[in-house]
Amino acid sequence: MKSLDSTHAPDLKSWVASADDHRDFPIQNLPLGVFEPPGEDARIGVAIGDSILDLRAAATAGLLPASVQLAAREPRLNALLALPATERRALRADVSRLLTDRAHEILVRPMLVEAKGCRLRNPASIGDYTDFYVGINHAVNVGRLFRPDPPLMPNDKYVPIGYHGRASSVRPSGEPVVRPRGQIKPAPDAPPVFAPSGKLDYELELGLWVGPGNALGQAIPIDKALDHFAGACILNDWSARDIQAWEYQPLGPFLGKNFHTTISPWVVTAEALAPFWIPQPPRTADDPQPLAYLSDAGDQTAGALAIELALSISTARMRAGGLAPQVISRAGADTMYWTVAQIFTHHASGGCNLQPGDLIGTGTLSGKTREAFGSLLEISSNGRQPLTLPSGETRAFLEDGDEVVIVARASAPGAASIGFGECRARILASQSEP
Ligand code: MN
Repeated sequence: MKSLDSTHAPDLKSWVASADDHRDFPIQNLPLGVFEPPGEDARIGVAIGDSILDLRAAATAGLLPASVQLAAREPRLNALLALPATERRALRADVSRLLTDRAHEILVRPMLVEAKGCRLRNPASIGDYTDFYVGINHAVNVGRLFRPDPPLMPNDKYVPIGYHGRASSVRPSGEPVVRPRGQIKPAPDAPPVFAPSGKLDYELELGLWVGPGNALGQAIPIDKALDHFAGACILNDWSARDIQAWEYQPLGPFLGKNFHTTISPWVVTAEALAPFWIPQPPRTADDPQPLAYLSDAGDQTAGALAIELALSISTARMRAGGLAPQVISRAGADTMYWTVAQIFTHHASGGCNLQPGDLIGTGTLSGKTREAFGSLLEISSNGRQPLTLPSGETRAFLEDGDEVVIVARASAPGAASIGFGECRARILASQSEP
């Protein structure tokens, strides 16, 4: 899973000229996705520079390993994600060879489509979406706002906290987000009203794609957890804080979060991420050790990911005035208190079956300072300290017309840096009263 091969060589070059030093999609990345060329149907592709390799065409031409031929012709990634990592690695090796060896150029060039103009879809049919809460700084910051003494719940350092989200409203980058309406308390001792959310927020998260699943009733051992991890994306868990605050007790988030979730549409595969595993930050002396089913020495040595995320905002006025989007949140995936392996193992530990194409959010990733907070809830202290933007406007929470873009990048010494593409969406005004 974490082994490097010739596809990761930092000096590897593609004959696709735009791939050289491409911000997101150099030859070392080769993320999988589903795209529609203008006026055509959806098919699987691999991003390379400013182009997309049509994997269905490559499979039809017999250019891919026999074991992936059928799965590569599906309109979604689920069948490919179901294959063991060895098959994904064989696919990656062949695609890398097709795009680097000039002998293949004459055959493969017609299978390249210019990415601009293609519509990117959700990469998989998402059966289930789960959101975790493993960003430790986020948990502390939010806890301080609502329960200062103590900010963390007693279970936070024992249990990778999560909840089951809504798969139907997970949408690819670019789809606008309609401001939700819901029950909101105008004042602590007033009855609720049904109104558009006044506290619409984003959450800066990493998304994790499930590859091969586990059978119902069969847990996933921690040392096998990454066999089920197929890749990652960027995830924005839009949150209506006022709806959430009134509804969340006793069962947790519901309508405050299920109206929309935006993902970056490319699956940066577990193979592409191989160079970017780093040690999990050690627990402090005061912290309990994880229970045995979540403990693995190898996971602690190389179970965190060297991925940095950055979130920018532009308001309608900023865009009209030609002002650049302003970065307001940056955090690293090393702020996760629990590793990818621990998340997968915990999710299945009671017997829950994960399935290929399931999506798991990490939870909001926040650093320790205001510039690094991964939500406006934290940045504005629940609205008390609005942020000032370059246009002079202030924001406690998102307003209609605001556009939020998250980008992410994996970097490591001696490795070619790779990106995730974009996770972008604009806020639309709430729909009229039903
Ligand atoms: Mn979340």
